[in-house]
Amino acid sequence: MLPVVALVGRPNVGKSTLFNRLTRTRDALVADFPGLTRDRKYGQANYDGYHFIVIDTGGLQGDEEGLDLRMAEQSLQAIDEADVVLFLVDAREGVTASDQSIAEHLRRQEKSVWVAANKVDGLDADSAAADFYQLGLGEVYHIAAAHGRGINQLLQRTLQPL
Ligand code: GDP
Ligand code: MG
Repeated sequence: MLPVVALVGRPNVGKSTLFNRLTRTRDALVADFPGLTRDRKYGQANYDGYHFIVIDTGGLQGDEEGLDLRMAEQSLQAIDEADVVLFLVDAREGVTASDQSIAEHLRRQEKSVWVAANKVDGLDADSAAADFYQLGLGEVYHIAAAHGRGINQLLQRTLQPL
């Protein structure tokens, strides 16, 4: 069984960009798994020697009422199916209310959750990532999904123990 990695986070943080990068290798296969709703996108990743199933999600929105459950259903399902959850946040925007709301949900999960601050290209990566420690989910990795930066280290830490 391949490990399953879910990409979650609010819209526009770069989940699909990371998904495409992880699956756009020679052996990549974006698969439609029968019986599963098409709103979650499944792909087979073969990246830097790591083989895993990756799930892209439409995104979670947090609001003053908490997670919008209708929109969030797919993401919650993906989290359920995953061995590892990659929580993407936008290093250019810093922590938002949605991020806080998603983090609160993830902290209650008995899952391995990793925070990846995306879009650090052109930024001081360490200071851009620092803000996200307040999410209370431990180590914050910095990546630039669009440029393939930092993904290797992230996968090493998240997938090595599996
Ligand atoms: P999603 O809604 O979370 O799936 O986000 P997308 O993957 O659709 O990306 C949202 C926007 O962020 C797009 O305009 C991407 O080009 C941009 N983006 C994604 N990754 C990066 C990155 O590493 N650096 C920068 N500067 N922009 C990025
Ligand atoms: Mg997307």
